[in-house]
Amino acid sequence: MFFKSKPMWGKKTQLKSSYDVVIIGGGLHSLATAYFLAKDHGITDVAVIEKNYIGFGGAGRNTAIVRANQRTQYNVPLYKEALDLWPVLTKDLDYNLMFNNCGNLNLMHSEAAMNAARMTIATAQFHGVESHLIDAKQAKEMVPALNISEDITFPIHGAMFHPPGGVIRHDAVVWGLARGAAKRGVEIHQETEALSIGTKNGKVTSVTTSRGTINCKQVLISAGGYSAALIHSMLGIKLPISVLTIQAMVTQPLKPLLNHVVSSGAYHAYANQTLKGEIATGAHMDPWPNYTTLNTAHYIKHQAEALSEFLPCLRGIRFMRIWGGLADMTPDMAPIMDGNNQVEGFFMDCGWGYFGFKSCSAVGKYMSEFIAKNECPDMLKPFALKRYEEHRLMGETAVVVNYTPDN
Ligand SMILES: Cc1cc2nc3c(=O)[nH]c(=O)nc-3n(C[C@H](O)[C@H](O)[C@H](O)COP(=O)(O)OP(=O)(O)OC[C@H]3O[C@@H](n4cnc5c(N)ncnc54)[C@H](O)[C@@H]3O)c2cc1C
Repeated sequence: MFFKSKPMWGKKTQLKSSYDVVIIGGGLHSLATAYFLAKDHGITDVAVIEKNYIGFGGAGRNTAIVRANQRTQYNVPLYKEALDLWPVLTKDLDYNLMFNNCGNLNLMHSEAAMNAARMTIATAQFHGVESHLIDAKQAKEMVPALNISEDITFPIHGAMFHPPGGVIRHDAVVWGLARGAAKRGVEIHQETEALSIGTKNGKVTSVTTSRGTINCKQVLISAGGYSAALIHSMLGIKLPISVLTIQAMVTQPLKPLLNHVVSSGAYHAYANQTLKGEIATGAHMDPWPNYTTLNTAHYIKHQAEALSEFLPCLRGIRFMRIWGGLADMTPDMAPIMDGNNQVEGFFMDCGWGYFGFKSCSAVGKYMSEFIAKNECPDMLKPFALKRYEEHRLMGETAVVVNYTPDN
């Protein structure tokens, strides 16, 4: 059951009877797309339709980790651009997004994992992304709290160090983008649920919401974990997406001990220290598809056991808060960004799993270009839905299954 609270952002205003573009969902991707539609393309007659309040979904629940050391040649450039955009957006939005590029340390627990990391690093370096391999002793020098002894379940062999990654305040990103879009004329309608999409002769004509029907020629669904169900129920398009609960926790505040984001695929856990001193941790997912945001004892046990092995100084520390959100997972751990195929004027941006925060800046830029020009930018072409029919899956799963936890 979701906790129902009042939106804090903006006042409730009248819905118009028509807009050029309607965007369903008030999360990171919608707000970023709306912002860039207005800023880069002068398209301001845009309504963002959010059934709860902006940031209600993964936007307000994620653990704020950003990085660009993905695995494939399609993903790395997109995530690199997203990472490079944070300082630019901080300036353009005139909003402190609190980007802390403290670097990400992905722990490796076998020689096979070290070899796989070498390949990932080579791809990253080829695309100009700083990433390199370090041994266990160097990792310990960077994070003295790390347990590099042999007597743990998965001894640490080394790490993939990615200096430009780090963390950004997720709520600041939501509010900064919302403010930047609204300043340029975009309307953000909270407590407004999109119910159906009207079509005629294979073209989008309207969106019906809980507050009335809006005429429009273009509609984007970027509703995070809810996207696949909405796209299926509204347009009959089936997506290869499973929705799972993803949880996160924070400990009591501690003195500074972690100055990098540390993650481990083998332990399936990551940790970083927030400005308040709390250790934020997550990664493990209970593997059954569902739409709840409830927490499980199994998850808490997993995280506590994992952290107390590779960061043993955390043993006995109290967890203060726990929460959950939805992760929309595709079979190749890469998103689906597509449009104008099945229905003219319909665009989708979904399947982000647990990568949707770090990508949203660049995706907003390219999805807005797609909508404005009605032509898919080269950057987004590899992410089309038809890759599943054509057996061109992306191979990002290896990042998760083999050695990176992902977050
Ligand atoms: C615990 C947790 C930790 C995570 N950690 C990270 C991380 O460290 N780094 C990272 O990159 N990613 C992380 N993620 C993933 C990231 O948060 C998501 O991928 C991202 O939020 C997706 O953005 P979005 O804009 O597509 O959707 P969301 O931010 O989920 O927004 C979707 C919105 O659509 C609205 N909506 C749904 N249905 C309707 C409807 N019918 N009408 C109107 N509105 C509707 C919802 O209310 C919601 O506000 C994490 C996620 C969770 C839950």
